[in-house]
Amino acid sequence: MKVKVAINGYGTIGKRVATAVNQQDDMEIVGVSKTRPTYEARDAVRQGYPLYVPEGAVQAFADAGIQVAGTVDDMIAAADIIVDCTPGNLSEEYKAKYAAAGKKAIWQGGEDHSLTGISFNAAANYKESWGAQFSRVVSCNTTGLLRTLFGIDREFGVRNAYVTIIRRSADPNDSKTGPINAIEPSVKLPTHHGPDVQSIMPWLSISTMAVKVPTTLMHVHTVVAELKEAPTTEQVKEVLRRSPRVRLVSSRDGIKSTAQAMDLARELGRTRGDMFEIVVWEDGIKMVGNTLYYYQAVNQESDVIPENIDCIRSMCKLEEDPAASIAKTDRAMGI
Ligand code: NAD
Repeated sequence: MKVKVAINGYGTIGKRVATAVNQQDDMEIVGVSKTRPTYEARDAVRQGYPLYVPEGAVQAFADAGIQVAGTVDDMIAAADIIVDCTPGNLSEEYKAKYAAAGKKAIWQGGEDHSLTGISFNAAANYKESWGAQFSRVVSCNTTGLLRTLFGIDREFGVRNAYVTIIRRSADPNDSKTGPINAIEPSVKLPTHHGPDVQSIMPWLSISTMAVKVPTTLMHVHTVVAELKEAPTTEQVKEVLRRSPRVRLVSSRDGIKSTAQAMDLARELGRTRGDMFEIVVWEDGIKMVGNTLYYYQAVNQESDVIPENIDCIRSMCKLEEDPAASIAKTDRAMGI
């Protein structure tokens, strides 16, 4: 029997989770929800997903000629687990609905850890969500930091990590936000990214700053980490090569920026041109004494998608071994 998954909020993250669920053999989509009759709603129907809408929006969808399967409450009733991909500020309202219906639910990184008390990253803490009713897949940036720092910390011990996050200002389908010709520092310091990493690795000493820049493709992190040991640069590269969902690239190969990193994803034939892995510049990794330096890039729209699949597997007790779940997800998604 396949686990029945509903996607509440069919936007940037929601539509990607829907595609990834569809690619797995142990889970299926029972519905996706949309609040307004947009091109994305029409596309959900075209793809064959049962489309559910809030009670008050049924008429607007009928007027737009988009056939709906029922209300969001109907969708919740039909699911074993809801992947909540709604924007912020709706979490308490929906949490009450999921709890009343006795359903499991996963939220995304826009929500606080306190909403669920459990946060998820497949490589770092798969088992913490085992059988849980509620969990949260951490944000794109936090997922990126965990993917690389978890393995490095396990092998060599991280005494202190100092990270600057160069943030994309908007997603590619967004024409509302900016900046479009400025660089905007986050002045509330340290930024929330460090504590978010600690929701999964509470022992890690990590400090973060962030600046927003006019680009839509990816975030870039500059990482400086003092290690407890002093491995060689090659030993660090080897750990990163073995870390799940981390892709080493080289500027000597022509991948000099996020532009070529995303072009590589398109050339690999990925759905929507997504780069699910964290891209680390192999020739930009350097050990000096016990200080490690590296750069990595995060495709904000897609790195968290395979994590959502593994989180479903852990919460629904479909696979006990984290490595087996990661491998199964990646195989199905072509990672
Ligand atoms: P989005 O705006 O692209 O999509 C949100 C969707 O929720 C839209 O389809 C909208 O129609 C729907 N929605 C709005 N109100 C609703 C309601 N009352 N009930 C049901 N659905 C409703 O947002 P997104 O970028 O996909 O972000 C979703 C979550 O994922 C947020 O927590 C965000 O922080 C997180 N996240 C976003 C990114 C990113 O870069 N876009 C990366 C990682 C995590």
